[in-house]
Amino acid sequence: MRIITLNSARAVSRFNLALESLEEARGKSNGIRGKVAAAVADIDLSSYALSPVLTDDCGYNRLPLEPRAALERLVDPELAKELGSDKHADLLEFIAERNLDPMVDLQSRTDVVHAEIDAMMKSLHSDFLIERNALLVTASPCINCSRYIYEFMPDLQALFFTGAYRCEDGVDFLGRMMPDLKIHGVDVNGGITLLEDIEDYRTWCEVQ
Ligand SMILES: [Zn+2]
Repeated sequence: MRIITLNSARAVSRFNLALESLEEARGKSNGIRGKVAAAVADIDLSSYALSPVLTDDCGYNRLPLEPRAALERLVDPELAKELGSDKHADLLEFIAERNLDPMVDLQSRTDVVHAEIDAMMKSLHSDFLIERNALLVTASPCINCSRYIYEFMPDLQALFFTGAYRCEDGVDFLGRMMPDLKIHGVDVNGGITLLEDIEDYRTWCEVQ
């Protein structure tokens, strides 16, 4: 575990701008368990200067398309009684707070398209030429996203996250499958820590 310092004021301001973009994107998230945003970016590893990490290249948790029947079942009050789960209550609260018509505004169950996938799709359709060798996420990637990152971002050199996901298997997978990938935790004060192995990751999570 090593602390990285950005080596110029310009690099610091770019990095901070990227983090601000992520926070802005996170506000749009539909995640119920956790709101997450991700940004696909370019990176100059000599300076850790990040280039175009603007909102257009950010992704945030989205509701997936799912069969209408599944949605109808989900918002069925009888089912809510049966389930009685926090997850179902959270969903109903989400619908009520936003005054949504579930049959129109929602197309899914509570599970969502994760921000990393959304950001990767956006980066493919971006007007900017993005080298896609850096990824910033507000929570460390889950195992499913990590598999997609491995497949679709083979040039990934650096991963930054500002919080720990509840499972560590995604980071573990990326560390093993992409041994040259530099994995960094970004703490609340903007300090950047290079996490050299899964034990570093666990230690970093504990102090966040
Ligand atoms: Zn994920």
